[in-house]
Amino acid sequence: MLTVDVGGTKIAAAVVGTTGEILAKSRGASPDSSDEVVLVDAVEHVAREALAEAGARAHDMEALGVSCAGIINTHDGVVVYSPNVAALRRTPLKAMLAERFELPVWLGNDATLAALGEWEFGLHRSVQDLVYVTVSTGIGGGIICGGRLLEGSCGAGGEVGHMTIDIDGPKCACGRTGCWEALGSGTALAERTVRRLEDGEVSIIGELSGGDMENVDAQIVAIAARQGDALAQEMIDVTAFYVGVGLGNLINIFNPSVLVIGGGLTKIGDPLLVPAANVARERAYMTSACEVEILTARLGDESPLLGAAALVWGLYGGKW
Ligand SMILES: [Zn+2]
Repeated sequence: MLTVDVGGTKIAAAVVGTTGEILAKSRGASPDSSDEVVLVDAVEHVAREALAEAGARAHDMEALGVSCAGIINTHDGVVVYSPNVAALRRTPLKAMLAERFELPVWLGNDATLAALGEWEFGLHRSVQDLVYVTVSTGIGGGIICGGRLLEGSCGAGGEVGHMTIDIDGPKCACGRTGCWEALGSGTALAERTVRRLEDGEVSIIGELSGGDMENVDAQIVAIAARQGDALAQEMIDVTAFYVGVGLGNLINIFNPSVLVIGGGLTKIGDPLLVPAANVARERAYMTSACEVEILTARLGDESPLLGAAALVWGLYGGKW
C-alpha cells in the first residue's frame, strides 16, 4: 500500500505493509506555488521516492491512500479549499493522482485520517469514543464516535479548528474571525509574540530569531521559555489557555473516553499540555471531565500516513 500526506509545508509518503508497518518513507517540501499541477508533480516525486526506497513499483501497490490538508468532498474526491495549501482550490486530486499512478485512490482530510491512524494503530481500537486534535500551524481534528469515524454528510466533519471561540477574536486563515485555530495554534502563538515584540517588549526571542520577526515561530518561543524568558512563558500560557478552552468544548460535545493531542505544538511538552488539560477539565462538565483520559499522540507524523492506509482497507466503520 502506498500512502501520501499533503500539507502546507511538507509532503510525506510511505509504503505501508499489510499489518500497518511502515516499510519505506520519503518526504519533501511543499512547492511554493499556486499551480495544482506543480503540487501534484511534487506529490508524485515524493511518492515515487518512497516506492524506490521500498524497491517497489506503483503497480505492485494495491491502492494509493491520500491524506490532505483542507476541506475535502469525499464523494467526488475534490479538495474544495485548503487554507494552508494555495494550490488546492476545487482540485480533483483523487482523479489527478489516479491518472499518474494508475491505481485506485482514496482521499481524506489529514486530521481526520490522523485520528483514524491513532485509533487503529496507536490505540488498537481499545476505545470506542475518541477525539483527536492536532495543534500545529493550524488546528485540525477527527472524531471516532461509537466505534465509527465521524465523516459528516460529505466527509467534512471534524473541522474543530474553525469552531468560534471569540467572535471578536483575530482573523483566521479561513477568512472568519475568532476561530480556535486563530487563537490556539502555533501560528497564533507566533503572531501574538511578534505583536508584543513590536510593541517594544524585551525578550531573548529577538536574539534567537536573529532580529527578524519573520523567523519567530513556536519552536523559538519554546526554546526561549526553557531558558526562563518571561515573555515566552507568558505566550505559552496564553496559548495553553486557548487550547484548553477548545478541548473543553470538545469534551462537552463528544464525551470521549480518550482525547489524543498531536501536532507540532505538543513538542513544547508539559508547559503547554498540563495547563491546557487543566483548563479543559475545568471548563467541561464534571461527568465528562472525570471520564476522559488526555493523552499525547503515539504515532507522530506517521498518523495520517497510517490513517490513509486504514481508509483504503475500510477500517473506519464508515461509508466512503
Ligand atoms: Zn477559521
